[in-house]
Amino acid sequence: MLGTLIDRLSASLREVPDFPSAGILFKDITPVLADPALLRDVITAMVAPFGHAGVTHVVGVESRGFLFGVPMALQLGVSFAPARKPGKLPWHTERESYDLEYRSDVLEMHTDAVRVGDRVLVVDDVLATGGTASAACRLVERLGGTVVGVSVLVELEVLQGRARLPDRPVHAVVRC
Ligand code: AMP
Repeated sequence: MLGTLIDRLSASLREVPDFPSAGILFKDITPVLADPALLRDVITAMVAPFGHAGVTHVVGVESRGFLFGVPMALQLGVSFAPARKPGKLPWHTERESYDLEYRSDVLEMHTDAVRVGDRVLVVDDVLATGGTASAACRLVERLGGTVVGVSVLVELEVLQGRARLPDRPVHAVVRC
């Protein structure tokens, strides 16, 4: 395959200005999903640092975290569990609130999705301010799990999301 994975990924990601609102430069991952060779390689790259971390569960954050989290769980041979927006999950749930710039939001997981002793890798497509990933980690810990790390496709470095994930191993395939 010609070019490094970072080059191929950077060339594939589509930047959409002012979506979903003015001032946001949205990283559209759909071209990555449309390229099976690239998708396979980014899944492998997102898994790689955690291949020997004893991961038992991948938790994907709604909704684009599902797209990467499920194939990562398959590659690791471990369970997948979704962290969803409120009211989406049908059974008993635990919830975690987190603050965004002008509002707060909530993530929920089924109470039996992760148990004491489970070792969890949290997955999303983009790490921006880190609020979402941080809430997902706290939710996993509330359920009794241990967070072994956070794996994302893209990290927006200027927003300093890692600062909200102190002491957690964070891996991004590309940082921009
Ligand atoms: P944050 O909580 O600020 O780290 O935001 C991360 C969440 O918002 C992830 O679920 C991303 O899918 C989404 N997100 C934030 N900023 C962007 C962006 N510029 N492009 C695409 N998705 C984004």
